[in-house]
Amino acid sequence: MLSVLRLFKVLVHSTFFYPSKIRLRFPHERSNLNVAKCDHKKSHSKVQIKSGAMFSSPDLLTANDTPGVHANSYYAATANRQTDFPQLKGEVACDVCVIGGGYTGLSAALHLSARGYDVVLLEANRVGWGASGRNGGQVGPGQRVGQESLERRHGKAHARALWDLSLDSMNLLRSLIHDYQIDCDFTPGLVEAVHRKDWVEDARDHIEHLRLVYGYDKLEFLDQDGIRACVNSPAYFGGTINHGSGHLHPLNLALGLAGGAERHGTRIFEMSRVQSYEQGDTVTIKLDGGTVRAKYLVMGCNGYLGALDGETARHTMPINNFIVATEPFSESEAENLIASRRAVADTKFVINYFRLSADRRLLFGGGETYGYKFPEDIKSFVRKPMLEVFPQLKDVRLDYGWGGSLAITTKRMPYLARVAPNVYSASGYSGHGVAMATLAGQLCAEAIDGTAGRFDVFDKIRLPAFPGGANFRYPLLVLAMTWFAMRDRLGI
Ligand SMILES: Cc1cc2nc3c(=O)[nH]c(=O)nc-3n(C[C@H](O)[C@H](O)[C@H](O)COP(=O)(O)OP(=O)(O)OC[C@H]3O[C@@H](n4cnc5c(N)ncnc54)[C@H](O)[C@@H]3O)c2cc1C
Repeated sequence: MLSVLRLFKVLVHSTFFYPSKIRLRFPHERSNLNVAKCDHKKSHSKVQIKSGAMFSSPDLLTANDTPGVHANSYYAATANRQTDFPQLKGEVACDVCVIGGGYTGLSAALHLSARGYDVVLLEANRVGWGASGRNGGQVGPGQRVGQESLERRHGKAHARALWDLSLDSMNLLRSLIHDYQIDCDFTPGLVEAVHRKDWVEDARDHIEHLRLVYGYDKLEFLDQDGIRACVNSPAYFGGTINHGSGHLHPLNLALGLAGGAERHGTRIFEMSRVQSYEQGDTVTIKLDGGTVRAKYLVMGCNGYLGALDGETARHTMPINNFIVATEPFSESEAENLIASRRAVADTKFVINYFRLSADRRLLFGGGETYGYKFPEDIKSFVRKPMLEVFPQLKDVRLDYGWGGSLAITTKRMPYLARVAPNVYSASGYSGHGVAMATLAGQLCAEAIDGTAGRFDVFDKIRLPAFPGGANFRYPLLVLAMTWFAMRDRLGI
């Protein structure tokens, strides 16, 4: 039995994640990618996988949501505007066609049209309908993979370039919010809460590493009293505060980017699902009832890409993640739960991430499911991990519960690629896409405009495709995630 387990461990580590000696230490190196168990019971090893989801993936643009309608989330209920862009009909020509109205597509469109390109953006549903309108809203410098791991994998110079790009992504976000007057409740401060006593010293080492090697001095160490003063939970032993990170209202960010793109002349079409595209000197993009001919194509479809582009699909994997919003708390209750309105993410493999909204609700992301269909009762599903962190909230009402799909890659680094000389694809942010997807859109714009230096820092990572091909990559991922989720529960 042990040797089978060992073999399995080697398989999943080498296939999907990192060399087995490297411990996953910080939230951005762990899951938060809740490809998950549909097992609501206490069992530590039993994992239920929905049959039928194993060998075929449903169309995620329609599987869990009503087309054209935002998920019933706290964000949709507090959106700054309702968009109603026209549907694309007939023949349209442009310089650049962008598919996807999330951060990637909107940022690409904004930056291209600001540079004078004639841009058409096609969104199957509504602007911000995908992960960009539903996520945890947590943003911070660094890649999804920690710098220490990046140095080992890619060498110091490449790791430094990736770190610098992560700082660029934060600066870009700040300047876009400022320049386009985007009202998205940006609030500074992100706590990384360590759930294992023997990992607390690692947090100190990490702070020191970033200070010495990267000159980053915005991390503050928290011992057990310190973390308790920040997060009123018995679940944590220590952690860090990152004063250079923060959180925001994700849908309002997306809507603000759409406003910026519109202002520069991007023609945005909603309810305009692309069915296929043909490569060539002119790219032909086909929709039901319409065609777009463009010199360039940018795909920013992330977890909702489906079979639109085989090359991107082989390198990315869609998975689901869930969030609930409680009823609002009073000022003192809110401060007693999380001090100073900071966001929090913990070190569990299946990450819990939470923060207070502008109207003092707890927005809590957690829980996990295997299978592309969302659980029927998302509120009950996420309530369980929420109560593990905050047992004192057992009588608190949950007003909203929603899910979303995102894309991961084998090495948890974004997939930015030229799938043809004039076709760009950016996705696979692996749960770290608020700032990174916004940057990726800008990098696609730069590359099309002839300056590919920053785009190529990602392109040259050369991510391996998921093993198993289109049919078997998903069941293999389920096995891998099962292993890691089990480790989480067993504390190994
Ligand atoms: C629940 C959840 C929590 C998350 N939490 C965080 C977090 O706290 N911090 C963080 O950094 N990241 C987080 N992420 C990840 C982050 O949201 C994503 O990485 C980011 O939003 C990706 O943006 P995108 O524009 O690439 O994709 P999306 O926002 O998913 O947009 C893709 C768009 O493409 C459209 N589309 C797809 N196919 C077609 C087609 N054929 N034709 C036309 N349109 C099409 C879709 O309708 C969709 O609107 C989270 C994700 C989820 C789901």
